[in-house]
Amino acid sequence: MRQEITLTVTDKAKAEFQRGFPLIAKEALEDADQLTQEGTIVNLADKQGKFLAKGYYGKQNKGYGWVLTRNKDEAISQGFMERTLSAALDQRKSFFNNPDTTAFRVFNGEGDGFGGLTIDYYAGFYLLNWYSEGVYTFRDEIIAALGNVVDAKGIYQKKRFDTKGQYIEDDDFVAGERGEFPLIVKENGVNFAVYLNDGAMTGIFLDQRDVRNAIKEKYAKGKTVLNTFSYTGAFSVAAAAGGAVKTTSVDLAKRSSAKTIEQFSVNGIDYEHQDILVMDVFNYFKYAKRKELKFDLVVLDPPSFARSKKYTFSTAKDYTNLMKEAIAITEQKGMIVASTNSASFGMKKFKGFIEKAFKEEGKKYRIVEEYTLPADFRVRKEFKEGDYLKVLFVELV
Ligand code: SAH
Repeated sequence: MRQEITLTVTDKAKAEFQRGFPLIAKEALEDADQLTQEGTIVNLADKQGKFLAKGYYGKQNKGYGWVLTRNKDEAISQGFMERTLSAALDQRKSFFNNPDTTAFRVFNGEGDGFGGLTIDYYAGFYLLNWYSEGVYTFRDEIIAALGNVVDAKGIYQKKRFDTKGQYIEDDDFVAGERGEFPLIVKENGVNFAVYLNDGAMTGIFLDQRDVRNAIKEKYAKGKTVLNTFSYTGAFSVAAAAGGAVKTTSVDLAKRSSAKTIEQFSVNGIDYEHQDILVMDVFNYFKYAKRKELKFDLVVLDPPSFARSKKYTFSTAKDYTNLMKEAIAITEQKGMIVASTNSASFGMKKFKGFIEKAFKEEGKKYRIVEEYTLPADFRVRKEFKEGDYLKVLFVELV
């Protein structure tokens, strides 16, 4: 039997839970030390013992768990999962009806009513991401519920919590038919090769769909493009599909090169006409400056934190410097796509980094467009923090 306990929340947190705040932070609890078993159902009550909300204990870097319902009598059963999943699927009808895009998020954690779990759709297959041991205790009910509400070719999963090295079991395969990888998905008509059975990442970050499309449709034609921290080169492929004269992709990871070649190839684009470099971005900036190379469009999409042999990069500390490096090798009237997925600061602060970089470089700019998470990555209004993505299209004027 699943454990169920009642915990008292602080006065400050009480008002937040009453407004619909979904995250159970450690600081919100008077008696957090009573939580011992991941997956425990937690009834939150005020100091007078009045029921506020019901959730579960699942430790993530964000907090101690998530609220699931504010209805005292609602059981966290398979039926609950089915209702929650169905509601999420209804919200994505337009995505399912669009043949040009066959990969998108169908369930976005707390944005869809169950923090700690995301589900992505990839051309008939469903991929579940579990973000805590606690949420993983609901695995059987959630997978059974999913099986009842969708027509899946196959179901895969990723455990995104510390499993002491046991991340992958049985190739991440859960149910249905096994896929053949790479699986080719479409995004606004562009092909992407994805792997659901190969480590934590699949080959494409679905949250950048609208940004890739903007590059393809509005900014790439006739342009030279530099894609830094390029991973599988998804932005480069979008730019090439949009008519870029040439793309240059730079990533430190050795396998990024073969992965990028693959993404170009599944679109019939000759990768030999593109530059694909396995190197440290910071070394590339030096090289480009020395060679006086400049680009019309520069994409900057670093990880929140990275450490290479020579450099440690933390977005919150180093974005301004990174931006300065980019400004130095962008053509006048060129564009920098400045992106970050760091949840540790908001859009305002991010714009501050850009402002500072241009000031220090003595150059002027104009923000042409800004993007946050796309519609399928649902965020709830009571928890705007859930929208971690910030992308600015910055023109050098
Ligand atoms: N922009 C990519 C996602 C980037 S993920 C996309 O849209 O798909 C972050 C990538 O940064 C990883 O592939 C990692 O290998 C790379 N990386 C981290 N530090 C780096 C560095 N110093 N130089 C080059 N690449 C780096």
